[in-house]
Amino acid sequence: MALNSIWVVAEPGNTALTTTSLELLSQARTLGSSVSAISWGADAAAHAIEAGQYGATTLYDVGDLHGALPGVPVAQAIAALVASVGAPDVILLPASYDGRDIAGRLSARLDRPVLTNVTGIADEGGIVTEHPVFGGTSIVKARFCAEGPGIVAVRAKSFALEATGGPSATVVTAPTGDLPASTSSIIVTSHVEERSGPKLEEAQVVVSGGRGLGEADRYTLIEETAKLLGGAAGASRAIVDAGWVPYSHQVGQTGKTVKPTVYIACGISGATQHMVGMKGSKNIVAINKDPDAPIFQIADFGIVGDVNKVLPALIAALKDRG
Ligand SMILES: Cc1cc2nc3c(=O)[nH]c(=O)nc-3n(C[C@H](O)[C@H](O)[C@H](O)COP(=O)(O)OP(=O)(O)OC[C@H]3O[C@@H](n4cnc5c(N)ncnc54)[C@H](O)[C@@H]3O)c2cc1C
Repeated sequence: MALNSIWVVAEPGNTALTTTSLELLSQARTLGSSVSAISWGADAAAHAIEAGQYGATTLYDVGDLHGALPGVPVAQAIAALVASVGAPDVILLPASYDGRDIAGRLSARLDRPVLTNVTGIADEGGIVTEHPVFGGTSIVKARFCAEGPGIVAVRAKSFALEATGGPSATVVTAPTGDLPASTSSIIVTSHVEERSGPKLEEAQVVVSGGRGLGEADRYTLIEETAKLLGGAAGASRAIVDAGWVPYSHQVGQTGKTVKPTVYIACGISGATQHMVGMKGSKNIVAINKDPDAPIFQIADFGIVGDVNKVLPALIAALKDRG
């Protein structure tokens, strides 16, 4: 391995480190001989156990932010760490809202560039990153030319999640120093969207509906099929824009990236902007009345038919199965 040291910003979610953070730790382990995580929140010990399971040996803890947005304090802490313990070869961050906020601020503090929207990282005598462009129809490769550390913001589901079962990472307190007044704005309350099944990004089965459903009420067919299969309900942007379902359901370039074992696209044409968010699924099933719909080009199984007839039949069959 040519890379000595990789730092991963491991973002705490509601109950544990986010899945994207763990994906980054999994990939970092394959690229560098030493992987450290940088995290924050009230429970550093729990984060250290989790980060250790995914290959980090050290967890730099920025501490409890008491509701402050992480952008300023975490970027400041990482910059201070670079000054005190030396720079890693590369710093990986999830391309989440907070991850991108930290990346931008860190770039300004360290005067180093950021590569964003990354879906692949390899060591080719230095970090080389992959970025989908033109709705995912082409991939461009990029590398840092200047002195490191390079800052890389990576999209969810770019890498497989692989725990090593390693020991807890050693917790080291990260220096935050005096924080500017901007951290005095705090999150007073946050709401977690109600859902009964698995999260869309983590579900093993995703059933998505598109404009072919015909009307908003028929989305219940998607929800019922997803529920019977123990999966999550997704959507194309067309029906999100039409106000049939919330944006949190959207799969695609400007929505979520999913990689389930089974993806069922119902009444979805297969625009490149939709496919970029689901084409990594292991098995793709498409139901569309148009045999020439582009979605059939990437489908493993295709049903040419009216989704409003096929789904009720599928629901009845699943209920019969018990
Ligand atoms: C910058 C940009 C970003 C975008 N980001 C996204 C994104 O993140 N996600 C996304 O999904 N889109 C995205 N889009 C929009 C995308 O280009 C498409 O417009 C959208 O995906 C189309 O949604 P759809 O397939 O539901 O609708 P349509 O393209 O209208 O397709 C409907 C399909 O349903 C079929 N159909 C009709 N009736 C039936 C029936 N009764 N039974 C079975 N099939 C039927 C039709 O044959 C057709 O194939 C983006 C576009 C842009 C420009």
